[in-house]
Amino acid sequence: MIAQTIIDRFIALLGPKGVTTDPDDIAPWASDWRGRYHGRAAAILSPVSTQEVAAVVTLARELGVALVPQGGNTSMVGGATPPADGSALILSLRRMNAIRSLSAQDNLAVCEAGVILSNLHDAATAAGRRFPLSLGAKGSATIGGLVSTNAGGTQVLRHGTMRALVEGVEAVLPDGSIFEGLDALKKDNRGYDIKQLLIGAEGTLGIVTAAALRLAPAIAARAVGWVGVASPADALALLRLTERELGDSVEGFEVIADETLGFVLGHIPGTRSPIETRTPWHVLIEVDHATAADPGPSERLEQALGAAMEQGIVIDAAIAASEAQAEAFWRIRESLSESEKAQGPALQYDISVPVARMPAFMIDAADAAQAHFPGTTASSFGHLGDGNVHFHVRAPRGTTDGRAWIAEQGQAINAFVHDAVVAAGGSISAEHGIGQMKRAELGRLASPARIGALRAIKAAFDPDGLFNPGKLIPLPDEG
Ligand code: FAD
Repeated sequence: MIAQTIIDRFIALLGPKGVTTDPDDIAPWASDWRGRYHGRAAAILSPVSTQEVAAVVTLARELGVALVPQGGNTSMVGGATPPADGSALILSLRRMNAIRSLSAQDNLAVCEAGVILSNLHDAATAAGRRFPLSLGAKGSATIGGLVSTNAGGTQVLRHGTMRALVEGVEAVLPDGSIFEGLDALKKDNRGYDIKQLLIGAEGTLGIVTAAALRLAPAIAARAVGWVGVASPADALALLRLTERELGDSVEGFEVIADETLGFVLGHIPGTRSPIETRTPWHVLIEVDHATAADPGPSERLEQALGAAMEQGIVIDAAIAASEAQAEAFWRIRESLSESEKAQGPALQYDISVPVARMPAFMIDAADAAQAHFPGTTASSFGHLGDGNVHFHVRAPRGTTDGRAWIAEQGQAINAFVHDAVVAAGGSISAEHGIGQMKRAELGRLASPARIGALRAIKAAFDPDGLFNPGKLIPLPDEG
């Protein structure tokens, strides 16, 4: 553990309010959301300004202390969990939670790193705009974390990931300098795009202190539908049909296996299936209009679903009759991770393959995993239109010690699933990042050119390796 004399130096810098040392207060932030990684840290440092972050980084560099940047700690890959040996301090950005500006005129919000996503949603709505990125952890995930993981979510189909929504970034680099990149320039050709390097860097290259984010017009009218289909192939056919019929007003298109829906209905109080018919697969679809024109999104969605039914693509469908019902449909989608967690031990894979290959992958990879690891069950849900699903392999029924199961089977199942992803031309991380969970697998599967470039960039920015050690970059013996 890092010595008290070192902690005292940070207390002298930030004051007692800026340094948490009580082990009970640190504990919730030293393990990951899924409870798979457990780290130790002698302190959480909580600066309140970019200048304080720069001072912390400068002092940490002088003392040779590693820092683990942290926002809401909702990482799905152990990205914000400190090392188990206590050799790093947590650098929390949660106290930097001001929205510095929000302009409906410019369609731009400048947020400090600790702003919670749902707070940005509320502020944008109040100004007649919206920030078009949402995910299940929106009540805890912060702008700094979302930028640093290049988060995706349920609106990527139309609006893209954080890479497409971040107009500028302010960050403290490992030498303590402040990268002032908040100007939202439409054109900027000053060589390497430092902003894009910082997006998705998982805190290994810089501490994001603020970001300029692009807003979208508020939704004037929306339709949310729940559709029962026979297969992922039919779900993809439905997506293509709705895109043809409704253009880019299709904003959300989420696919869910019936078994996975059952977990939500079983574990999340107050949820019920939006359609009566039991179908093998379900699609949650949202159509948004920025203007209140006739016909509205509900009528247009109804027409499109009618056409899909005639073509035999759709088995049953319901369109939400009210905002409350629309929210209830979305609540099912947003509770999937939580209900899977409640269902029991599982290994989760956030993967992508080319969209056209995804329907076959969802069926074939699940069948293959179940056959190869008897007793397990596998299924997937998520963003089919992005070629990205969350593929889960659950422990055999009755498994009580999930940790022991993962210790025994985890590596083999990881390799099996990731090999299938690579064989299908895909990526082992679509939106959650690499963190510590996928680092070795990235090393095993990525090309020497990719790994070499990652290591070279890391060494150029952070030669002492003090920013989020052990995350993202494969270790020397990992490829
Ligand atoms: P943290 O978990 O605190 O950190 C994440 C990573 O970013 C770590 O590597 C950390 O070191 C780094 N970091 C954090 N803040 C900073 C900073 N200011 N500067 C530099 N580095 C920093 N993700 C998706 O993409 N799509 C989804 O649909 C989605 N759904 C989710 C649903 C649930 C229920 C949960 C729990 C998570 C989900 N996630 C999803 C994952 C997670 O919410 C995102 O990765 C999110 O971006 C993390 O934000 P955070 O503030 O919690 O970051």
